[in-house]
Amino acid sequence: VTARRIDGTAVAADVRAAVAADVAAFVAAGGPKPGLATVLVGDDPASHVYVRSKRRVSEELGIASLHHDVPATASQAEVEGLVERLNADATVHGILVQSPLPDGLDEEAVFARIDPAKDVDGLTPVSLGRLVLGQPGLRPCTPSGVLELLRRYEVPLEGARAVVVGRSTLVGKPVALLLLEANCTVTLCHSRTRDLAGELRRADILVAAIGRPGLITKDMVAPGAVVIDVGINRTPDGLRGDVHPDVAEVASALTPVPGGVGPMTIAMLMRNTLDAARSLAPTP
Ligand code: NDP
Repeated sequence: VTARRIDGTAVAADVRAAVAADVAAFVAAGGPKPGLATVLVGDDPASHVYVRSKRRVSEELGIASLHHDVPATASQAEVEGLVERLNADATVHGILVQSPLPDGLDEEAVFARIDPAKDVDGLTPVSLGRLVLGQPGLRPCTPSGVLELLRRYEVPLEGARAVVVGRSTLVGKPVALLLLEANCTVTLCHSRTRDLAGELRRADILVAAIGRPGLITKDMVAPGAVVIDVGINRTPDGLRGDVHPDVAEVASALTPVPGGVGPMTIAMLMRNTLDAARSLAPTP
């Protein structure tokens, strides 16, 4: 058997097209042009690449890209002050402070300053609290991209056994909470999990967000499982996921790396920005 390929590039293009149409309708109905403020502190090369793509995609979809470059020498108070100004700026509907911040800056404290109504990354304490409470709110982008892929491919979620590997605040924990909200029975594994293979073999749905190339091999996967590989690992042979390619021999469906979850993150960021604009500036 060869697993069906879950095509994140195609789904992300669909999501972006839907957001572009919805942005146009929102503006035609009298809404303001949605604005996404990106804040890049310092000169981490990977962060530059990410922010550049976020800016390009927002412009393509009719969302204003309002960018702020901040020198690595900026103080905590300066960065937090910028966030406060963006909170108060009515042309800004979404605020994205690119992680990681340079050493010496307290990233959590900066995130905590972001107005939850503009928290399009979904990573502030209030947004994460709303996720735990099951209240409406902006959800983290990569995790909601994972759920969007499962829904688009009509993977049955209710009652399914979902196993997530990785418990970061960025990916693993929110993915687990979103799967729980979708009525999966969720197991969350991490580096101290006693019998990882044993846990994984019980999974109908397996989500890997680990950061270890090829860690999940076919002997750890139940025949017919749906496997979502969030991992993006730079190796001498190029980008690799956390899931070994041999898993395609047993899984029923699998996301490729690249071209799986990766493209979904920016697409979901765009949807969050539109949703934020809609709730900040409701049209009649
Ligand atoms: P973190 O390093 O923050 O978390 C990794 C998690 O994996 C931890 O919970 C850790 O456990 C667990 N882990 C590490 N080694 C093992 C092991 N041998 N067995 C079981 N669990 C293990 O990573 P992130 O969550 O930020 O990212 C995970 C991956 O996803 C990375 O490859 C990253 O590049 C990718 N990523 C992709 C995105 C996208 O597609 N757009 C967005 C964000 C991330 P413990 O907590 O015990 O240390």
